[in-house]
Amino acid sequence: MNSPSLIDLHTHSHCSDGVLSPIDLVARAAARGVGLLALTDHDTVAGCAEARAACDAAGIRFVAGIEVSTSWRGRAIHVIGLDVDARSEALTRLIESIATRRRERVHAICERLAARGRIAGRDIAAQVAATAGLPTRMHLARALVAMGHATDSQQAFDRWLNPGRPGHVPVEWPALTTVLPHLAGACRALALAHPHRYKLSGGALRQLVADFAAGGGAALEVDMAGMAPHDQDRIASLARHHGLAGSAGSDFHDPAVPWNPPGRFAKLPSGIAPIAERLADA
Ligand code: AMP
Ligand code: MN
Ligand code: MN
Ligand code: MN
Repeated sequence: MNSPSLIDLHTHSHCSDGVLSPIDLVARAAARGVGLLALTDHDTVAGCAEARAACDAAGIRFVAGIEVSTSWRGRAIHVIGLDVDARSEALTRLIESIATRRRERVHAICERLAARGRIAGRDIAAQVAATAGLPTRMHLARALVAMGHATDSQQAFDRWLNPGRPGHVPVEWPALTTVLPHLAGACRALALAHPHRYKLSGGALRQLVADFAAGGGAALEVDMAGMAPHDQDRIASLARHHGLAGSAGSDFHDPAVPWNPPGRFAKLPSGIAPIAERLADA
């Protein structure tokens, strides 16, 4: 049965690379019994007003959020901003600069796909341009599938978009250490997204978490769909070591992916304070 104690502080809508509209996302979360929901689209808050209205109607506590793309030591690192003030000028500037990089990258990838992959880059670009949300590589992957160049989006990444493949274009997001103070000023709390997924050595991950905490970060995502117990143990001990709280989220994108529906149990590993308790109205 549904539990009223489910929370989810990491979800996507079609305003970035999710499949559902904000309204449909909220309906799905409500049906699962989620009582506290953050919409955290990649580099945009465009869906938050619609999601808030739908949550108000459904009796769900809503947290406006964002998942910001940053760079740290040459890698893409994602930071979740929770209870974000969409009117912040610093946030608006940051989002605009990332959107410009995203649009330029789509063009660069399509040119490479045409030159190196001999596929119709212009048609791919047109399909991506027709989508509602901020253009991400997931949109490119879906367009590649629609045009018959891959059977599913994972295969599109593996064949065309990942490093070493014809459409790979390295991207430099704004530096984590530059972004953090601006984002901290615009949000009630920042959580380091999916720290277990970065392919970093133990020492580098400790340094990343130290830099994140020093820049005003408040929490690590310690409870995510598909997270192995041993990953949760190592991320929880990093959180304890740095005095950080814990966050929980599904990273839901697509109802066709069965293993990460919206909603996580509120309970976190022992000694980890839930960031949800520090959010407005939560
Ligand atoms: P990006 O435009 O680079 O921010 O990527 C957009 C989204 O594509 C990510 O947020 C993931 O949801 C998805 N994604 C990125 N890399 C991969 C990959 N190697 N395989 C499958 N999905 C990916
Ligand atoms: Mn995504
Ligand atoms: Mn992410
Ligand atoms: Mn995400």
